[in-house]
Amino acid sequence: MYQVNDKGYYGEFGGAYVPEILHRCVEELRQTYLQVMNSETFRKEYDQLLRDYVGRPSPLYLAGRLSRKYGCKIYLKREDLNHTGAHKINNTIGQILIARQMGKRRIIAETGAGQHGVATATVCALMDMECVVYMGKTDVERQHANVQKMQMLGARVVPVTSGNMTLKDATNEAIRDWCCHPADTYYIIGSTVGPHPYPDMVARLQSVISEEIKKQLTEKEGRDYPDYLFACVGGGSNAAGTIYHYLSDERVKIVLAEAGGKGIFSGKSAATIHLGKKGIIHGARTLVMQNEDGQIEEPYSISAGLDYPGIGPLHANLASCHRATVLAINDDEALRAAYELTRLEGIIPALESAHALGALEKISFRPEDVVVLTVSGRGDKDMDTYIQFFGGDEE
Ligand SMILES: *Cc1c(COP(=O)(O)O)cnc(C)c1O
Repeated sequence: MYQVNDKGYYGEFGGAYVPEILHRCVEELRQTYLQVMNSETFRKEYDQLLRDYVGRPSPLYLAGRLSRKYGCKIYLKREDLNHTGAHKINNTIGQILIARQMGKRRIIAETGAGQHGVATATVCALMDMECVVYMGKTDVERQHANVQKMQMLGARVVPVTSGNMTLKDATNEAIRDWCCHPADTYYIIGSTVGPHPYPDMVARLQSVISEEIKKQLTEKEGRDYPDYLFACVGGGSNAAGTIYHYLSDERVKIVLAEAGGKGIFSGKSAATIHLGKKGIIHGARTLVMQNEDGQIEEPYSISAGLDYPGIGPLHANLASCHRATVLAINDDEALRAAYELTRLEGIIPALESAHALGALEKISFRPEDVVVLTVSGRGDKDMDTYIQFFGGDEE
């Protein structure tokens, strides 16, 4: 009941609201994606690349000192250990195989923190395809290491100077490019957003995360489900992957952490589920941060990957059915949580993932609770921010 229906909707959210010129592309993809993804050749190549190129399965690590701190059993799903440093590669490998099957030669993508851009540039190098990545100028500046990686991988990075020059603006530009080259270009969307079938396709490609959690928990705990799942949400792809196989298992509580920024009432926030109203953004009907005239409000988060005024339709529906508990975690809470994980476990998480960690202190656990929290990426790209905040040395 939480899955997409045959019209592309999750409850009242989703659908495909695209300009006339893109209608055929989106329809072609809708008619192709399940057939390709279910084919023997796709499964074989996708599974093999996830294993030998990405390094899957990613470990499920029992974090002993973190568990003691929060009084329950906390397992970390280590997507930070994937090739290119985040969960994004699970999706880009799948979509590039679909693009190739559809005969497309030119790939475009949007990126916020640069992780999706790097993951896309990586698979384009691997498959010898042309790659153009749109990235807000603000993000180009705050995530410079990832820009250099994309360039070294052979992608053209186009800085976008509209709006507040972040992820929403990059997505607008990518869609504009797609409208100009609908025939030869495949748009690799980086999250569970955009017109149907993207949210469903991306959720399925990321669902390898919960497929592995089931197996790994069975080995470690003798049962295949946890009491809690925690993940951060920007557009929602690492969360979708984490919860996919547990959506209808009501024994499992789902906690989603969105970016509170400087506080949800501060005017500087990206907490879309808290602040959004129903509207249309980037091809889907979902919750959108907007003013009374329907103008999109500029979001804000210290974390480039969560700095987005929309949210995947799957997650908008989970929130509206109360299947998921959604918490807004502010910049300072995320920064403290990142520091805590680093000092307790020797793992420097991405700033995005730190929002999921920051949600731990908001829930009161029983000692026997089993918690799985997805560390969506590693913190290399965020070192400047961390050093600025802590001066590199805080006790
Ligand atoms: C992109 C990114 C996110 C946010 O995107 P989702 O689609 O919500 O997962 C979270 N964590 C990391 C490390 C990212 O790179």
